[in-house]
Order: sequence, then structure tokens, then C-alpha cells
Amino acid sequence: MFCSTCGDERLFEQPPCSDGHGEDCPERACTACGTAILIGLPVAPPAILGHAPPSTQAPPAASSPRRTSDERAVA
Ligand SMILES: [Zn+2]
Ligand SMILES: [Zn+2]
Repeated sequence: MFCSTCGDERLFEQPPCSDGHGEDCPERACTACGTAILIGLPVAPPAILGHAPPSTQAPPAASSPRRTSDERAVA
């Protein structure tokens, strides 16, 4: 990974995270100069946006309009 402080390719390591990111911590520290950089900031997966909230979904109609279907059957 390129370190802008060293101006060269350096080995980066994931420093101990104190923010609770765990393995997803975007922080990397240059093993040569110690410069910390952030890589690929975690973003909210778009799948969540496309998922319709259950509250807006119409509940399964317990009282379905059977009359309509009956009239259709008759006609
Ligand atoms: Zn972190
Ligand atoms: Zn460096």
C-alpha cells in the first residue's frame, strides 16, 4: 500500500481499534512511519435501502373481498 508520508510502498497493519470496529476497522497504520490512513470506509449496504419496511406492507387481508370473486364467477 502506498504511504503518502513515506512516498513509497509500505507495509500497513491494522492497529488495535478502540472504536469497536473490530475486523471491519478501516484504519491502517504504516509500519514504517506510523501514519494512520482510512481505507474503504464501510458504507451501508444498498440492500437495506431496497428492503421495504414491514410496517408499510399491507397486512395479509383476513377479510378478503370474496364478493368480487363471487360476482365474477357468476358473471
Ligand atoms: Zn476502528
Ligand atoms: Zn509511512
